[in-house]
Amino acid sequence: MTNSSIAKDKTRRAPAKVRQAIRQTQAINEQLTDNIMAEGGALANAAAKAAALSKGGLTEAEIQVWVKDLDARLAVMAQHPEQNLGHLEEQIARSAKEPLRLVAERAAQAKANATPCCCRDCQLPLVSQKYLARTIDSRFGPLRIFRGYGWCPQCQEWHFPADYALGLAKKAPASPYLQEISALLVSKMPPEQACLVAERLGLDLSRCTLDREARRQGLKAELMRAQTIAQLDTWEGIQQLASQTDGPPAQPFTLIIEIDAWNIRERDDWGQTKALREQNKKPERWHWVYMATVFRLDHRGQTAGARALISQRGYVATRLGLDPLMHQLYREALRSGLGQAKQVLVIADGAVWIWNLVKDRFPEARQQLDLWHAEEHLWAVANDLHGRGTPEARSWVEPLLQQIREDQTTLVIATLTELKPRLLQAQQEKLQTQIQYFEHNAHRMQYKEVIAARAALESGTATDEQIKLANQPLGSGAIESTCRQYQCRFKRTGQFWTMVGDEALMCLETFWRNGRWHELYPHAKSSVALN
Ligand SMILES: [Zn+2]
Repeated sequence: MTNSSIAKDKTRRAPAKVRQAIRQTQAINEQLTDNIMAEGGALANAAAKAAALSKGGLTEAEIQVWVKDLDARLAVMAQHPEQNLGHLEEQIARSAKEPLRLVAERAAQAKANATPCCCRDCQLPLVSQKYLARTIDSRFGPLRIFRGYGWCPQCQEWHFPADYALGLAKKAPASPYLQEISALLVSKMPPEQACLVAERLGLDLSRCTLDREARRQGLKAELMRAQTIAQLDTWEGIQQLASQTDGPPAQPFTLIIEIDAWNIRERDDWGQTKALREQNKKPERWHWVYMATVFRLDHRGQTAGARALISQRGYVATRLGLDPLMHQLYREALRSGLGQAKQVLVIADGAVWIWNLVKDRFPEARQQLDLWHAEEHLWAVANDLHGRGTPEARSWVEPLLQQIREDQTTLVIATLTELKPRLLQAQQEKLQTQIQYFEHNAHRMQYKEVIAARAALESGTATDEQIKLANQPLGSGAIESTCRQYQCRFKRTGQFWTMVGDEALMCLETFWRNGRWHELYPHAKSSVALN
């Protein structure tokens, strides 16, 4: 039975309350219809106005309103002598926000209007063209733009050419600037902090947008990295990579590669802890993050405080495994001048996987064991024999440390081997491990020349060759400090890693460090190169 038939049936008249409710419903329906009609009219109006826009900018009247608002704010400030330039900056920015938003909205609309309604893949004009509004979150606040779309009969797809021209993604409201800022903030700090920082910078970025955008941008970065690594598949690609270095080098140079790894804890199976436990599986997993850095020795200098400073260096970081590491590293090395280098020097700790990879990918490279790692291994023996940090341990180890610095590893191995029979079984086994470490790495332990060159430089008697050599690193400190920096951001626990994916975020971070941020965000090209 319909509403009206209830109302008209006098013999079975509905109770007063019901009749009142029906009247109210009818009134609401009429109101809604009116609203929809009015909104439809307003929308059609706005759409017609938007379609007519051919350039951005403000009207005289709008500029006047802005100036008046600004003057009023400045006048209020003048009454507060305790307020400083910071207050001024805030007020001016607030006053400018709406005018700037209007300019951005209109300029974006004009660009959308100027975009031909053609398929971006096959360039054919789209059919069944329609006009639709969307709201974009931008640096200046929400922008509403109308843009045409249509069907490509050839590609069998709907296309929104203006969205593409404006750099907007499907179903993601962030403008390219906000896409970039989300990526930047979240790769530098946890999203809950990023959200507050964004707010302080005057950006409307919700936690949800930040998370979603950072994830999308991370995937975009990974995709771009995969494309650049695909360059290695063709001869032309390799040639192109090698030619990206800045012209032929004036003098022969050494290319330094440092490799290291650290481990990260991830919760790959977030929310499934109980289910996994029931299957006797552990929900948390540790993954290795492999990292490397590449630089030319002649790009390494020193700060006034005698700290090593590398003006240009490339980084790679991945937790996808050794193969991806080597692909990324090889590409980075080519880009840093592998093709032109007089010699290649790889410095790392004693990890066997590193040297296996180096032998495979950089067979011509000279290998060097990090001096400090070698020394640590001797200290471990000394501490074990004489107690941690005791004077006896020190006096035992010092001659051996000296021998290492003089490239007399065979003497060190002899001393350790002689020592062995005098020890207890457990100590013998430990010592044997150390002896093997030195035996395996002996051919990578040449430090004498560099140490002598440094001494000569100190005393002012260095030859030209020694001046160059003195600059050569003895250890892999450059990559170790990079690892620590990545760990500061990425070695945190929590559900974050399942939401965004550490590989994607590390990929973003590495684009940033390599000074290639603009490859992801062409609008950022004008920013200072960050390395
Ligand atoms: Zn098409």
